[in-house]
Amino acid sequence: MAISPKMAYTILTRVTKKKNLKIILISILTPVGVVIFILTLIITILFAPINAFLEFLNPDDITSLSSFRDKFLKPSLVLNGRYPMPVDGNITSKYGYRNDPFGRPTAEFHRGLDIQPKHHSPIISIADGEVIKANTNISSYGNYVMIKHELVEETFYTLSAHLSQVLVRVGQKVVVGDVIGLEGGEPNKDTNPGSSTGHHLHFEVRTTPNKDSSVDPALYIFDKEENSK
Ligand SMILES: [Zn+2]
Repeated sequence: MAISPKMAYTILTRVTKKKNLKIILISILTPVGVVIFILTLIITILFAPINAFLEFLNPDDITSLSSFRDKFLKPSLVLNGRYPMPVDGNITSKYGYRNDPFGRPTAEFHRGLDIQPKHHSPIISIADGEVIKANTNISSYGNYVMIKHELVEETFYTLSAHLSQVLVRVGQKVVVGDVIGLEGGEPNKDTNPGSSTGHHLHFEVRTTPNKDSSVDPALYIFDKEENSK
């Protein structure tokens, strides 16, 4: 079959056009791809906390709440003290400057550790001691108990707040493991919840009865579950 000049011209221009298109595409797509890659890298690094927060908000993933906690609360929080936890539960807020949802510290200083167990779980005394306050007055703490632990090794004070029930009285001697009250703090469900948005135990350790002497409870308590792993 003979090829007419017209046909040859058509084939030639098609091939040339295709080649040009390829070159044009490569010369455009390569830099664009590199830029997208770098941007993705930057966005991934900068917005990791936001992604985790969005993952945490995803209601379809029932494990996301615990994975969010594991990712952002547990690794940085090592409970390596010598006393047992006042109750088993998730640490929902650490001691120190609170973080906003994007992980940045805010001006609000949190004097204790927030632990969320099953609602109305028994709260124990973490060491032997004597109850020095069993307060059911309306306050930001709600119902709370303060115990003086005068031990051979050290003397310290613990405060357990947002209790739904106080089960000890001032002057009462307690030993480690004694139940001092029931967890609470659920607004509209528990009486005198204090300033609390959901039920939890607010747990403080102090070196004196004064709130300004608060120290990080993570230095005093250990996590039974963590230690048994
Ligand atoms: Zn708290």
